[in-house]
Amino acid sequence: MNKAVITIDGPAGAGKSTVSKAVAAELNYLYLDTGALYRALAYKAMQNKIDIHNREEVASFCRQVQVQLKNKGDKMQVIVDGEDPGDKIRNEKVGLAASAISAYPAVREKLLALQRQAGAGGGIVAEGRDMGTVVFPDARFKFFLDAGVEERIKRRATELAHKNKKADTGAIARDMKARDKNDASRDLAPLAAAEDALVIDSTSLNVSQVVELILKRIREAML
Ligand code: C5P
Repeated sequence: MNKAVITIDGPAGAGKSTVSKAVAAELNYLYLDTGALYRALAYKAMQNKIDIHNREEVASFCRQVQVQLKNKGDKMQVIVDGEDPGDKIRNEKVGLAASAISAYPAVREKLLALQRQAGAGGGIVAEGRDMGTVVFPDARFKFFLDAGVEERIKRRATELAHKNKKADTGAIARDMKARDKNDASRDLAPLAAAEDALVIDSTSLNVSQVVELILKRIREAML
């Protein structure tokens, strides 16, 4: 059976990562977290003291920085200028910076070929904002995972609490809303459900229920 490309898009905090990882594990597919690419680039730009609000400065940074994707077990690892930034990209400061630079054509162009290459042979669950619309428009299975904003804020706060990190609900709400607004209103590859995506509102569903829904749709089509 040919291995498919599966795309999962949606706003921040909708549960895309958890769900994508579980779907990939169940099907023995690779998991591609494309947000990590934007985060790694933003992190490196900040480290190099680039003004992330200056489009030209970021474009020139994009011409010299090296970004790679490597297979690492069941996921793809992001390497930026020879280094895996690991958990250093997992905070809201980097998330907001990623959202700012992700609106620039130089940034999206730089990362597009890399993502397409990763999905070229199929057998991948790609998670992001424009997977089904721009990066993999011909993907066999497309999902758009959404949830009410209050529920998404609650989930992010719980996630932080589990990591023993301080969870300031007010700050989470502010940052998440700012990021969603940026991501949905930009001209290039805005956050949107592809016309042929199955939209799942997970507000009152748990992770297993969402994963089951996705797997059911895939298995039925692949029979
Ligand atoms: O998914 P995650 O929250 O890690 O993504 C960080 C930011 O990267 C998003 O807010 C968005 O601005 C950007 N992004 C994007 N396109 C993608 C994935 C992420 O623009 N495919």
